Amino acid sequence: MTRERIYLFDTTLRDGQQTPGVDFSVEDKIAISNLLDEFGLDYVEGGYPGANPTDTAFFSQKRTVKSKFVAFGMTKRAGISASNDPGLAVLLQAKSDATCFVAKSWDYHVRVALGCSNEENLESIRDSVEAARGAGKEALVDCEHFFDGYKANPEYALACAKTAYEAGARWVVLCDTNGGTQPGEIRAIVEAVIASGIPGTSLGIHAHDDTGQAVANSLAAIEAGCRQIQGTLNGIGERCGNANLVTIIATLALKDAYCSRFETAIDAERLTGLTRLSHAFDELLNRSPNHQAPYVGASAFATKAGIHASALLKDPRTYEHVTPESVGNLRKVMVSDQGGKSNFINALKRRGIEVGKDDPRLDQLISIVKEREATGYAYEGADASFELLARRTLGTIPEFFSVEGFRVMVERRFDSHGRIKIVSEAVVTLVVDGQTLMSVAEGDGPVNALDRALRKDFGKYQHEIDDLVLADFKVRILNGGTEAITRVLIESIDSTGVRWWTVGVSENIIDASFQALMDSVIYKLMKNRELAGKIAAE
Ligand SMILES: [Zn+2]
Repeated sequence: MTRERIYLFDTTLRDGQQTPGVDFSVEDKIAISNLLDEFGLDYVEGGYPGANPTDTAFFSQKRTVKSKFVAFGMTKRAGISASNDPGLAVLLQAKSDATCFVAKSWDYHVRVALGCSNEENLESIRDSVEAARGAGKEALVDCEHFFDGYKANPEYALACAKTAYEAGARWVVLCDTNGGTQPGEIRAIVEAVIASGIPGTSLGIHAHDDTGQAVANSLAAIEAGCRQIQGTLNGIGERCGNANLVTIIATLALKDAYCSRFETAIDAERLTGLTRLSHAFDELLNRSPNHQAPYVGASAFATKAGIHASALLKDPRTYEHVTPESVGNLRKVMVSDQGGKSNFINALKRRGIEVGKDDPRLDQLISIVKEREATGYAYEGADASFELLARRTLGTIPEFFSVEGFRVMVERRFDSHGRIKIVSEAVVTLVVDGQTLMSVAEGDGPVNALDRALRKDFGKYQHEIDDLVLADFKVRILNGGTEAITRVLIESIDSTGVRWWTVGVSENIIDASFQALMDSVIYKLMKNRELAGKIAAE
């Protein structure tokens, strides 16, 4: 039986931008659109060209290779022709494959927000779709407040959708803009829209999570006949968020109710990249991934000790609704038993470290990792630090150098022009081959000063760290208040293009940074000697 195709439309960069605390730069948008494009989504909506400098710059060139690159904007204003609307002109000049227009479909909003007649609004929809098609773009129309509009005035809501469809819109997207509609209502209204003459193969669903049902509403719309789903990575978005595409993708691919009838661009092989996609996006946002996220959370396949764990080890199907491997996640049994041990042995093996099952140093390593993770270390995101810890415990790291101490000063003062100036200065004392080396450096902020001082005089290793660059630096406060624990993650890269992550944890942010810096430098020295494993880009 041939399966029907469901199209996946990502609006992380447009609707997701409305999330409180989220503000994407052009560089962020490029990185995220690459993630989405490589993962294989059908549509990537990039933003609203003409509405702000970031989005205008982002749309100065096409940013996707395979995904259709979508620009979002308003339909033409009432009272002027499409060709005379400067906003529409900017939108159509954007380097996009498709244009998604937002259109009012609730007569109340037409009157109050647009201040034009119902007929003028229909004309704006028709003319805008035609203008986009004339410019060689695929046209989509997001019918804003469609479900509330339908409840208030079904004839008019349908007229808006129908006008878009008849003008040639590839997709008419039904939006639950306020997020309050229930799955049963979604299903009934989508069925009514299809009965009115718009085929489901031209209908999309855009759901918000205000009652915690954006995913359920999206699936209800699919069951009723919609064939495109809009959503965001990890469900970010205004208020309570948008439909979580990560959850939807896995459900469509793995649940028989859907995968027996439908297919998406995400096949079984691509699906194994889902956990990575979700976590990479959180890293970009510098927020910790939701441990309880369906399918991709660190706890999604974690079982505590006890009867569940032992049954799980005998036959995982007893306690798992899908396999963790199918979405690229890992099974976790959180006890130091055989399961935990073999996980460790495998993790070490992947880094080229062989250790016997009965080696007491293995037990020692497991207890150190557990202890450290309890105090805030996160080795999942810092593979280089994990490898160093393992090699230290197994006694296979040479003593390259030792640190006698460091001191950092931050001074706020006025310069000769009376302007406020913040000066950071660091002193680091190292011992290399019995020789004490003391370096002083200023920097942009205390961590930068520390990094410069550390690298100023490394004795015989100096030339070895010339190509070491700190690519990223992330700080996370682990519990509230001024006594919070700080975790610092540092991403490093060298001239070979290899990247590695290191971690430091302390009550003091400078000390946490220093630990992560030291691990990065030692990892680099190990790598230069080919003593380091295959950490890069995992
Ligand atoms: Zn929305």
